[in-house]
Amino acid sequence: MTFDELGLDEQILNAISYMGFEKASPIQELAIPHIMQGRDLIACAQTGTGKTAAFMLPVLHHLVRNPHHGTSTLVIVPTRELAIQIEQQIQGFAYFAPVSSIAVYGGGSGNEWESQKKGLEGEADIIVATPGKLLSHINMGNVKFKNLRYLILDEADRMLDMGFYDDIKRILDVLPKKKQTLMFSATMPPKMRELAKAHLINPAEVSIAISKPSEGVLQAAYLVNDNHKTELIHHLIKDKPSFESIIIFSSTKKDVNGIVRSLKAKGHKVEGISSDLEQKEREEVLNRFRARQTRIIVATDVLARGIDIKDINLVINYNVPNDAEDYVPQNRKDELRADATGVALTLINEKEMRQFSSIEKLIGSEIRKLNIPAEIGISPEWKTGRVAQKSENNKHRSGKFRHKKKYSGDRGKASKG
Ligand code: AMP
Repeated sequence: MTFDELGLDEQILNAISYMGFEKASPIQELAIPHIMQGRDLIACAQTGTGKTAAFMLPVLHHLVRNPHHGTSTLVIVPTRELAIQIEQQIQGFAYFAPVSSIAVYGGGSGNEWESQKKGLEGEADIIVATPGKLLSHINMGNVKFKNLRYLILDEADRMLDMGFYDDIKRILDVLPKKKQTLMFSATMPPKMRELAKAHLINPAEVSIAISKPSEGVLQAAYLVNDNHKTELIHHLIKDKPSFESIIIFSSTKKDVNGIVRSLKAKGHKVEGISSDLEQKEREEVLNRFRARQTRIIVATDVLARGIDIKDINLVINYNVPNDAEDYVPQNRKDELRADATGVALTLINEKEMRQFSSIEKLIGSEIRKLNIPAEIGISPEWKTGRVAQKSENNKHRSGKFRHKKKYSGDRGKASKG
């Protein structure tokens, strides 16, 4: 479906074609008509599906057609990276429209507070904010929402995971009751249903199935004990000299620092992104990576979510992501591009096998398990609770099936249940 067919205003259509979007993505096709009709909406879609345009384009359409005074739109997001990224997308979509926007987030220097305060007092049409910082501004009286018409909760499940439930409720309490509310989320946990029930009015619901990684992305997982993970990373990178852009995700800041140190010691151009860095420094690291001055970045999962970088050759998940939903976006930044290619590798230790197995269920396909090279060490056996099976390479390496009967029996049972 084209954007023209969705009935969007000419000014928005011009910006979309300027940005090179030709066809609406599935979530856009499903969500935009409901939003155009003024309905509240619950939408299940992940980052990378075009969800930002799905909620922003129809809202901008209304703002262009029905000029208003004061802040009309509030987008609440979990992280500052996402706030910045969404606000940048809004600037693109609203390029030909008289609509102003501002990103409001914490963690920067004191100067940001002042400039955000000024922007808020100037009553930007659209505010994209993280919950904590927005609440501080609300409490200080820096922001007025009496003319609010649209509220968007983006990555709502992630906000609940990050402990923002109470902050969000407090924000909702100060907003006018009469408004259109759009809730976007990758999953729909019970607490979110509760929130939706209390604050959305007769919402339409749309959902796109978790899509499988693009064909061009080769995926595999290494079975590896923690003490061999760093050495394996060295091996994997050494193995791929033609790969210009590599991202390594890890769940802890400590690991990020350790990986960066050890890659630096081997002479790699590598930088880390964790909460140790100020916002401005993080942006600079990402810019150097985009410009190919840095070959490898190592980032924590939370900060990584939403980072939109094209043309990555290799993604390594140093740990199995805690949140199964995170696996997919991390491995498929280029979902909307048919020509996406690359390699996505996940390192799984014994404790993480069960979690990895739930990821496989979620994406509906089994990912090939590999053993680490013999010169590094021995891989743990692939076990996921009642299902125990050896990885492909282990079978070949041992040359025989020591427990063949038992394993095949268990596997048979597992596939039925
Ligand atoms: P999002 O899911 O909002 O994070 O979007 C992921 C990426 O897809 C962003 O870089 C968007 O600019 C891009 N995008 C969104 N909609 C489309 C579309 N219909 N066609 C091509 N690219 C798109």
